[in-house]
Amino acid sequence: MKKLLSLILCIALMLCMLISCSSDNAPEQSSSIEESSNEESSDTEESSSDESTSEDSSSVEEEVHEHLDITGYTVVIPTECDLSTKYAAENLVNLVKDTLSIELSIVTDDVPEAEREFLIGETNREESKTDTPLADKQYLLFKENEKIVMKGYGIYVGAACGDFINKFTYECGGVLDIQDLPSAEVALDFEFATEYKNAILMIGDGMGETHIKMAEKNGLDAFVARSFSSVGESVTRSQSVLNGEASYTDSAAGGTAMSTGYKTLNKYVGLDKNGNFIRNVRELAYLNGAKTAVITTDVITGATPSSFICHNNSRENTEQLQAQINEVIASQTIDYIAGDVGDELINHTKTALSKISENGSQFFIMIEEGQIDKASHSKDKNGAIKYVIRFNDAIAYAAQFTLCHPDTVLIVTADHETGGLEQAKKLPNYFYFTSWEHTNVDVPLFALGSGTEIFNDVKTENINIGKFCAAAYSDDPFGQQTPVEPVNPIEPTEPAEPDEPAETVE
Ligand SMILES: [Zn+2]
Repeated sequence: MKKLLSLILCIALMLCMLISCSSDNAPEQSSSIEESSNEESSDTEESSSDESTSEDSSSVEEEVHEHLDITGYTVVIPTECDLSTKYAAENLVNLVKDTLSIELSIVTDDVPEAEREFLIGETNREESKTDTPLADKQYLLFKENEKIVMKGYGIYVGAACGDFINKFTYECGGVLDIQDLPSAEVALDFEFATEYKNAILMIGDGMGETHIKMAEKNGLDAFVARSFSSVGESVTRSQSVLNGEASYTDSAAGGTAMSTGYKTLNKYVGLDKNGNFIRNVRELAYLNGAKTAVITTDVITGATPSSFICHNNSRENTEQLQAQINEVIASQTIDYIAGDVGDELINHTKTALSKISENGSQFFIMIEEGQIDKASHSKDKNGAIKYVIRFNDAIAYAAQFTLCHPDTVLIVTADHETGGLEQAKKLPNYFYFTSWEHTNVDVPLFALGSGTEIFNDVKTENINIGKFCAAAYSDDPFGQQTPVEPVNPIEPTEPAEPDEPAETVE
């Protein structure tokens, strides 16, 4: 009877494996199944003599591939932990929860050692003490005893966590297949997917290179985005600047350039320079089935966030912007939206990313730290430092998330510089603002992910950022899109008044 049972179990398991793996490595899979059916009889013998628990399944399969049941594993991080390691661990936990419905807990390495542990980064466990030198983009992922060791060069610790779930394993009844998991330390090269299908755009409003330097001289260990594979600059001038009507961009034209791929006039939100409604990248993503989100520490009607939601000829039409935002929320054409989030920026970033990426969903998200600009307008150095540090925290999480979701691109930049911040030449610790306003100083652009090399070491016009993100959702050339009727996904059944924006012009 027991024999029969385990035979049934065995067949069921193989079916399960076949289904879950057929898309990935079907040829490899079919050969191992043949293998297993040859040895089936001896295998069933073994498992029937086993004390029967649900572990039956793993011993049955053992012939096919080596397995690991990670239930009961703990995730261990160093007590003194950098942001990348901490967030790599959190992303591992989320991935395991999302793909296997198993809840793992994270502990620091000052707790007594357990037999079964994931060791993230430089923990004090023996297995973490490796001597393989790692170069940029390299990581270690191996199993020694019952420990799974995950380490990486700089931010690439998350590559080990991501690949553990994405590459070396697949789901089969909560038990992982670790056949290809190295059993000794060997440096692995991380590679993003050849094509990206998700984009994370992070905008530090008013954040110039000098703002980052000032934060680094005042409590910020390292601005995480500096270790991204591509580092360049973005040119922020708006159409108003090009026309000679303004000396610098505002956040509306800056946000719109990135959200639509069009240079436009200052104050315009989601309109081209002629006042036409232009579909933004978030709407494009939505129309192509992706989940979308907008998060900001500014008010949600602020110029930057509303450039990704609204269409209006003035950023100051707060009520109209709010009405459009309400419509988007009511019609459920956005999956996560949060304004004025303050110090909760990091938590909203985590929650939004896990919500919009659930079950492998495609997504677009814009995350803004809006207070760097506001502090800089009042020449408040401490405020600017504080908000760059707060932004960096969210960036560190997004970077680990991106490494765990290698079909994602992450871009960190600013819409413009604010305050003409300067670093004193003779006193490198001294910084001073030279303006109360925005400037035309080029802003830093950091990018991580497939195809982002185009931004490396170059100055790029801000519109190219929107175009790059949009390519995740459509092959149509973005930034040349025909102006849309002011419909958009806001209210598909009842198009808004075509000349709604014009009405507000007196
Ligand atoms: Zn400003």
